[in-house]
Amino acid sequence: MMDQAMYQQFGDAVAHLAAQAPKVDLPDVERVQRAKAVMLRKIDRNLAVDLDACVRCGYCADACQFSVQNDDPDLIPTRKLDLLRRMWRREVSPMAWLWRPFTPDVDADDLRQWQALCFDSCTECGRCSMVCPMGINIARGVNVMREALAAAGLAPDELRAVQSEQDARGTVFGADASHLAQTVERVRQRGVTVHLDKPRAKVLMLTTVLDILLFQDALEATARVLNAAGLDWTLRSNGYEAANFGLLSGVEETQKKASEAVIRQALEIGAEMVIVPECGHAYPALRWEGAEVHGAPLPFRVLAISELLGELVAQGKLELRGGVEQSVMFHDACKLGRHGGVFEQPRLALRATGADVREPRDTEEMNWCCGGGAGGFLINRAAPLRAQAFAIKRAQVDASGAQAVVTSCGSCRLNLLAGAEQTQWDKPVLSLVEFVAQNLVEPSPQQA
Ligand code: SF4
Ligand code: SF4
Repeated sequence: MMDQAMYQQFGDAVAHLAAQAPKVDLPDVERVQRAKAVMLRKIDRNLAVDLDACVRCGYCADACQFSVQNDDPDLIPTRKLDLLRRMWRREVSPMAWLWRPFTPDVDADDLRQWQALCFDSCTECGRCSMVCPMGINIARGVNVMREALAAAGLAPDELRAVQSEQDARGTVFGADASHLAQTVERVRQRGVTVHLDKPRAKVLMLTTVLDILLFQDALEATARVLNAAGLDWTLRSNGYEAANFGLLSGVEETQKKASEAVIRQALEIGAEMVIVPECGHAYPALRWEGAEVHGAPLPFRVLAISELLGELVAQGKLELRGGVEQSVMFHDACKLGRHGGVFEQPRLALRATGADVREPRDTEEMNWCCGGGAGGFLINRAAPLRAQAFAIKRAQVDASGAQAVVTSCGSCRLNLLAGAEQTQWDKPVLSLVEFVAQNLVEPSPQQA
């Protein structure tokens, strides 16, 4: 069960987060210079093609959770790339000489306007790209814009507050090694073996602030799964946090630092596999971008816990009792599903419990985002937009006829719980790893 007092405390902490952001005192001219430098550095061949290819058909407008709920033309996905497009045309395109006289330069007011477009009203969910006839990767362009805005000191205060904490202290919401140790102790008191700081292990288990403070049952369930599968694993006090606020806020240095902290631990213990907890963005941060920031291929596999569950079930290494009679809908976190291709494994694990897994009309690649991904759930002024996106999600779950919704991302879970609370929706919002662990046939403690 989630700790309700801690949930309340977490909500209060988020409400006051902006006040903790470090002050950025930059003249506008410097903000613009910094943002333009990032945009120019990041426009590569793929992005150039994307920026030039839009035929303004408007299909993406019907795919985006924010634009379908609003008439505001600023919320149409392709609009989010317009500032980058202007830079491309004016400064570096082959026809720059022709565009320049008719294309206004970027100014600080533009940057302030795009802050809301690229942070509040885009979760980088990627759904728009699924319908774009030109295959334009809008989420990537938005991510580049986030980096440009961060360089200009214009990432939203809430994200800057957490990013600066992670950069300076390596923690997120203050969840340091002592909090991890307390949570581990609590889980051990429930009779679960938790390996902390083993010097060598084949599997490095990561966790995250949400599981350390709020969803401790998810951490416990992960430990039980790894034990039941007989894996040689450990958590490490010097590198456990999977969340990466460098990636979310667009600060590459912090992204690299956060990734290196866990990569170092994996190398030190000789890990062959690193398990990412139920945290959507943590997966691409390590799985797809880890090698890039590390500067070399990672000598270990990176698996989301939802992937591992499916793999263990398929290999017959996880014995489940079955017999669950509940009907559930699996909500794919965008960063795991649409961006990562992790669709079948979580469903395999769910079905192995006996649950009746219902698929809604728009499923897997076309699943609707929870509304608060890519750090959006922390941006206070974006709450009305999140509520609109949640309305789509709620309707989708209800239409599936499922008795509960299951997900494998802590921030999706938080968003769904917040939406449920605000709209008196009584659908249980469950964690995949907890759901599966409740169905485990476990070896006796002596065997674990
Ligand atoms: S990535 Fe998602 S939230 Fe962003 S514009 Fe596209 S559909 Fe909308
Ligand atoms: S669907 Fe693609 S081509 Fe059409 S407006 Fe959107 S980004 Fe442009």
